[in-house]
Amino acid sequence: MSDTACGQDEDLPERAQREAHRVRASMRDGLSDFIADLERWVNTDSRADALDLLEELAADIAASLEAIGFEAELVPVAGKGPYVHAALTGTGQARVALLCHHDTVFDRGTAAERPFSIDSDRALGPGVADMKGGLALAAHVGRHMTDAPWAFGRLELVSASDEESRPRALRTIDRLKGFDAVLCFECGRVDGSIVSARKGGRWFRVRAKGRAAHAGVAPDEGRNAASAICHEALRLEKLDDARAGMTLQVTGLAGGIGLNTVPEKAELTADLRASTAEDLEWAMQCVRMFPDYDDISLELEDLGGPPPFERTPSVTSLAETAIELGRELGHSFDHVSTGGVSDGSWTAWHGLPTLDGLGPVGGLDHTADEYIELATVPERAGVIAGLLVAIELGLLDLVVANG
Ligand SMILES: [Zn+2]
Repeated sequence: MSDTACGQDEDLPERAQREAHRVRASMRDGLSDFIADLERWVNTDSRADALDLLEELAADIAASLEAIGFEAELVPVAGKGPYVHAALTGTGQARVALLCHHDTVFDRGTAAERPFSIDSDRALGPGVADMKGGLALAAHVGRHMTDAPWAFGRLELVSASDEESRPRALRTIDRLKGFDAVLCFECGRVDGSIVSARKGGRWFRVRAKGRAAHAGVAPDEGRNAASAICHEALRLEKLDDARAGMTLQVTGLAGGIGLNTVPEKAELTADLRASTAEDLEWAMQCVRMFPDYDDISLELEDLGGPPPFERTPSVTSLAETAIELGRELGHSFDHVSTGGVSDGSWTAWHGLPTLDGLGPVGGLDHTADEYIELATVPERAGVIAGLLVAIELGLLDLVVANG
């Protein structure tokens, strides 16, 4: 590891490098098994509201993990598909979560229209990058780590069923209390970068209530809620870029009941992002400072959202170690901050050292052209195996000791 990573002037332990090479080689040999699991999972649509499909998919994931050697459990969640928690028990000390989700943003029928396919080195299909590719990678890293049980005490693969639509922490986060680290398998960025910081987000709705009136006969008796909401949209947009890295987008507008009626009600929704918790709170204060709209009342509904995932010394140490392992494998990448949120934001917020973007390199998430680069699957597997060894050998203890 580099001296900036943990304050020790010492090379990355040889055992971590050795495991990285070993698991990369095993993953190359076993790539067809990885692809077989990925293909089935991509070909099962899994939007968070398709409960029957989510049941089916979670059962398949659990069975595949059992076949690999995990002890798998389906955890029921009220009104949602089951979560999968699957554990490998080793002879070491470290407890590490491999964090994934198996829901996608795609409707039922999408996989039938454009099923899993491979085009030269790219795997395509709904959710292949976000994040069934990462899920398959986590599962198969587990497979190859069963040959190195000394490298961990507990490896727990967690796959949520509702990540894409949930503005709060994953339902089973308490199960990860006391874990040493969380490795999140959202896909790597297009240039291979991993993710060591994420903006926090807040979603909210502003509702305006005015007074209806006939738009032609008695317009002055009405109080136009739609017009007030349009003013609000323009006022709130000023928060975009108001602080470094802050963004605000008005994401929805609705109002009115007919061509000839002054709208009594209207509303907007917005998406706010910021790098620090303090900036998010400041922006929400600004949102609440509604100007006076003559006889029109406004109310804010705060819909919540993930907190910022900040780059702590532990996170930096994990990231720098991953980068060094990548370099060792000839797989160069950097670590970056991103505006997108993931369940890694929640684990980081709960004080668990978290590193994200460890999934296969890919992109165009949430579009029909979503892809992963299959050649990066063994490389990533090697990096993750090396990271597990480094954590077992005390990488993060050193951060705490020096921190
Ligand atoms: Zn995702």
